[in-house]
Amino acid sequence: MKLILQCKKCGTYTFQKKHCDTTTENPKPAKYSPEDKYAKYRRMAMKDF
Ligand SMILES: [Zn+2]
Repeated sequence: MKLILQCKKCGTYTFQKKHCDTTTENPKPAKYSPEDKYAKYRRMAMKDF
């Protein structure tokens, strides 16, 4: 899985670790977990059955 990064200086999304002489960062917040979200939906779907 490729991790997408964002340049904090110009806002460009890139796979490079550096852009505009600045270290790029992961644009997604660390707290957000998509796996938990899917687990919740999966549980909801199972209830319907
Ligand atoms: Zn940049």
